[in-house]
Amino acid sequence: MNMPARAKPGSGPSDQPRGMALLRDPLLNKGTAFTEVEREALGLRGLLPAHVLSMDEQVARVMTNLRDLPGDLEKYVALNTLLDRSEALFFRVVCDNIDEIQPLIYTPTVGLACQRFGLIFQRPRGMFISANDRGRIAELLANWPHPAKLIVVTDGERILGLGDLGAHGMGIPVGKLSLYSACAGIRPEYCLPVMLDVGTNNEDLLNDRYYIGLRQKRLTGAAYDEFVDEFITAAGDAFPGVLIQFEDFANHSAFRLLHKYRDELNVFNDDIQGTAAVALAGLFSALRVNGGKLADQRVLFLGAGEAATGIADLVVSAMMAEGLSEADSVRRNWLVDSRGLVVKGRENLTDHKLRYAHDHAPVDDFLTAIRTLKPTAIIGVAAVGGAFTAEVLQTMAEINDRPIVFALSNPTSKAECTAEEAYRHTGGRALFACGSPFDPVRLAGKTFVPRQGNNSYIFPGVGLGATAIGSRLITDEMFMAAAHTLAYLVTPEDIEQGSLYPALPRIREASAHIAVAVAEVAYKRGLATVPRPNDMMGFIESQMYDPQY
Ligand code: NAD
Repeated sequence: MNMPARAKPGSGPSDQPRGMALLRDPLLNKGTAFTEVEREALGLRGLLPAHVLSMDEQVARVMTNLRDLPGDLEKYVALNTLLDRSEALFFRVVCDNIDEIQPLIYTPTVGLACQRFGLIFQRPRGMFISANDRGRIAELLANWPHPAKLIVVTDGERILGLGDLGAHGMGIPVGKLSLYSACAGIRPEYCLPVMLDVGTNNEDLLNDRYYIGLRQKRLTGAAYDEFVDEFITAAGDAFPGVLIQFEDFANHSAFRLLHKYRDELNVFNDDIQGTAAVALAGLFSALRVNGGKLADQRVLFLGAGEAATGIADLVVSAMMAEGLSEADSVRRNWLVDSRGLVVKGRENLTDHKLRYAHDHAPVDDFLTAIRTLKPTAIIGVAAVGGAFTAEVLQTMAEINDRPIVFALSNPTSKAECTAEEAYRHTGGRALFACGSPFDPVRLAGKTFVPRQGNNSYIFPGVGLGATAIGSRLITDEMFMAAAHTLAYLVTPEDIEQGSLYPALPRIREASAHIAVAVAEVAYKRGLATVPRPNDMMGFIESQMYDPQY
């Protein structure tokens, strides 16, 4: 008899929950897929209808029901309910239908889910650690029942392009960790979503009767830093070697926390480093089409935050790897923020922008910056919907034979342009990537298939590689290796139809390759803590969770 998935190792059938308790345990429940033999042995007779379904049939039923639902938020809720019912079935559904499900469990739907989090909240998932828990965080973490290897943590201050959503930002770590399991096969019990609830400055939430978080203004200054520090220390003690991913922190915390911990502990910031790698991979793919070298590109960013400076920093490293000096590489990357071109001498520039504050006359707007600097690539990461106007796109097409246009802002309402606009206003010549999903575009007899420059191509593989070999640190070199690996997986057929990333159903393959690349860097730099396996790909694949009963 097949025991239900996730039976505790070494435990005999007598230790297993039986009957109703078994059906109510999402880690063990198979619902109508319990076989006749299991029903007999596990006290399930009479508790289930007679007909036994296969897992595949259950998946098909879930998808039929899902497609009948009227809106994406309803689908998001239905998928969460499924996860509460049967973890294996949930992940099987996600893995088998990643194209359709990823936008429902992550961007763009997760943005809406976070905005309505108080209303759709059902079962808690992950850990909520509030400012009131200061001094007791170690005690709280001891309540977590699983051996976490990977934590995604947010303080909810900058959720996607939506701003301060306080404790409602928990949807983001939960969604990201689902992607870790679905896209890279990291076992769900190794994944711990954490909300550091330090309050919110969002007045609407503070006045919302269904707001789930602390009803107070955000902790700031030393009190905030001490709180985060207590969490980081307690997490390392509770789960030795745990990898901590910072997620959707506001600029003033994100850069600081990353720089504070990155050389000492196993941490990274996906908004900065994961975004950088996926964008760099897209640039490498675009260069396969226009035949250029990265070191010859001029990149103009709309936005000067975590995504923009993260991408620019990795592009600089990659240009230097092609032989350009650091100064020349930096000079090929330019930022436009809400006050215009970031240039030397502008007042009150925040630290993270200073590297890209070049000697140049002030330029007030993005279009003039394009006309002045003549970039080969524009990358939109300012969360200003529609900012790549027809004129912007036409100008890029006048300057470049194959303009690189990445409209990466999320959710869809914040996208700088749609795929259709990008292709139409450049006569089909744009090398386009997007942050939100767009349907294929038919133009002048050709079908373009735009693909999302989604961080989920990168962070699951990085996390898989790093946790599999117990890396002590996560380095930029690993993200560069991930970018190269992802771009290498793009096929000539993908390129032919305008896709700069592999098809999403290949994501587990991509994650496995990225994990190998990351592990190789860790061994090269002496960061791994387990002996080097002879067959690295075989080893990585052996670590990947495949949701089955
Ligand atoms: P951020 O808050 O760190 O940065 C936003 C930047 O935009 C700031 O520098 C701000 O000054 C600038 N800005 C605001 N208004 C502007 C305007 N009118 N003109 C020019 N600049 C303006 O946020 P972030 O983490 O950098 O993310 C930005 C956007 O990118 C979000 O929508 C996010 O969802 C998206 N994003 C997408 C991906 C992806 O698709 N892979 C990854 C990361 C972030």
